[in-house]
Amino acid sequence: MYNAIRFRKALLGPDMEPADDVWMTISDGLITALGTGQGPAGIPSHPAAVAIPGLVDCHVHLALSGGADVEQEARSSDPAARQDLLEANAFRHLQSGVTTVRDLGSPEDAVLHAVKGGGLGAARAPQIVAAGAISSPAGHGNFLSRWATTPAEYEEAINAIAGLGAHWVKLFATGGVITSGTVPGATQMEPSLISEVTAAAHRSGLAAAAHAHGSDGIRNAIEAGVDSIEHFSYLTPDEVALLAESRCTLVSTLVATERFVSSDQRETANPETLSKILAHAPHERAALQQAVRARLPLAVGTDAGTTFNPHGFGMQEQALHLNRAGMDPASVLRAMTVNGSRLLGDGAGYLDVGRRADILCLDADPLEDLGALYKINEVILVGRPVGK
Ligand SMILES: [Zn+2]
Repeated sequence: MYNAIRFRKALLGPDMEPADDVWMTISDGLITALGTGQGPAGIPSHPAAVAIPGLVDCHVHLALSGGADVEQEARSSDPAARQDLLEANAFRHLQSGVTTVRDLGSPEDAVLHAVKGGGLGAARAPQIVAAGAISSPAGHGNFLSRWATTPAEYEEAINAIAGLGAHWVKLFATGGVITSGTVPGATQMEPSLISEVTAAAHRSGLAAAAHAHGSDGIRNAIEAGVDSIEHFSYLTPDEVALLAESRCTLVSTLVATERFVSSDQRETANPETLSKILAHAPHERAALQQAVRARLPLAVGTDAGTTFNPHGFGMQEQALHLNRAGMDPASVLRAMTVNGSRLLGDGAGYLDVGRRADILCLDADPLEDLGALYKINEVILVGRPVGK
């Protein structure tokens, strides 16, 4: 447990301003004082070159493995094996510098049950902000969702997941890649339905995340007032204009597509999934470039757990994809920390007095080269160093 630390360099505050010779004191897992220069006597120096906030991965599936056929695996796995899997996956995020994840759906709400039951030891898992997912019975995501068709059924499902401690509801505005028989660009919820369901979620105190690839689905989700839109692969200038006026945050998960497309095992995947992802990848890349150019509010996820997309170090790859899409390193780092934390309201996300002491200590400076995110010296979670 750290009560005080001194760093040679740290990126401070919501703007992540670089500062040299930074000290901070920590109590009950929160940063209680912070400054540069001499400060209180006797503060030990940390060996890392640079301290940044822990990364915030806004889109994961802790109960999925990231193997070749996660749909089949999810339908067949037993509860004990699933619990072991999600604990191992949670620890991989922590080891790769991710101190908060938002889980956007698990078979039989396994993640909600695990979090509610305290089944993920605090030193072995990042902070988990968990959603319950709701899909139509034959729709995208049906294998990790409760099923509903009518507004009344959705409302019943929302009440059930709220009772399990969910802070978010995950909806599917369009079809997707990894569920058989659905089309990524096709609308899966009518505009009136997604509007009613989003309002019901908000009334129950839950935020709403919408999976949306196709532009109609993206537009329906924005107009429904959802809090985040996941993937946004077929974004057009019309939705960009709507988003600029809304309070909705985009969550890019491009790394999930890139990992699949570049996997040397991709030919072993379900052929329908492979053909869908190959057709869809160029659109998702272009959509991210468009969102970056328009400076839309952007947070970052990995969709870890989906096909050929295992947990761990996806945020590092995503940083490079964001950079290639036109974001400078400082903006990438803010998107992966501050912006995600704002979306989730998780009390961490940047280094300042009153924030949680979730700190990623690196051996090189990510403002100079985002590859530094791989050079992890230590991860600190709520003031405690994470074991190897
Ligand atoms: Zn997902």
